[in-house]
Amino acid sequence: MKMSEIKWPMAEANRISSMLNLVLGTDRFPVKVDQVAVEYSRQCFADSPVDKVDAQDLEGFEGMLAANKAHSKWLILYNSEVSSEGRKRFTVAHEFGHYLLHRHQQDRFQCGNDDISTGDGKRDIETEADLFASTLLMPLDDFRRQVLGQPISFDLLGHCADRYGVSLTAAALRWTEIAEKRAVLVASRDDHMLWAKANQAAFKSGAYFATRKRTIELPSSALAHSYNCEAINQTQSTKAQLWFPREPSTMQLTEMTRGAGQYDYSLTLLLMPDAEWQKPQHDEEEPAEDTFDRFVRNGQPLVR
Ligand SMILES: [Zn+2]
Repeated sequence: MKMSEIKWPMAEANRISSMLNLVLGTDRFPVKVDQVAVEYSRQCFADSPVDKVDAQDLEGFEGMLAANKAHSKWLILYNSEVSSEGRKRFTVAHEFGHYLLHRHQQDRFQCGNDDISTGDGKRDIETEADLFASTLLMPLDDFRRQVLGQPISFDLLGHCADRYGVSLTAAALRWTEIAEKRAVLVASRDDHMLWAKANQAAFKSGAYFATRKRTIELPSSALAHSYNCEAINQTQSTKAQLWFPREPSTMQLTEMTRGAGQYDYSLTLLLMPDAEWQKPQHDEEEPAEDTFDRFVRNGQPLVR
């Protein structure tokens, strides 16, 4: 996405965060997003507010936003079969994002995990709704305060996930955005990557995985690989080349792994010092965002 397109969803979310900070103070998490959607829309858009947030059997959809015929009110629904509070919260925030950003384009939005993201240069409303949701639920200023001066670990990210009421995956993805060094988050199952998210610094240095283009196996030395199956919830320092062959042989990488709870996949965080001496090296054209569009929302991998 272009910078101007990223800014809009974030600005909407930050405006609401500022209001919530004024009313509730800064120690106000997790965001009560159902309540915020109803009250904020009533105040700001009294002629067509979000009337209700409710659970319903949505048969294959995670969430839905729909207007009544007169467009005098909107309804946000989330799938009643979803048991995870983190997924529900993210879904409601995502639908609220559609309401604020896109309701003049459509009167019904049905959102699932397995939508195909266009990624063809058109503005992607699903990506925008996800960006709105993660910005609203995990404001960066507060997120930075939670992790400031502490070594990153999945325990610390678990603390963030608890604070914001989101999945560990959603918190880990948020962290990669503010990481000061190169960071890559990899989700894997059965020794193969489901998806990977490189932060800007990593992507620019060529340290990323094009998981959309091809199937990528984990290095056999990876903690998340079944060869090393006792290694759940561990950290190791290893040669960067094992993951990224173009890195210099002296480059070390910190690798940490954890199973992502009920979702039956592993998360691996790869951390490397900056590579300022490297020119950007890209084998092939790959959109910078390999992730934000689909699975960020619920901390779920892409459905394949
Ligand atoms: Zn959507």
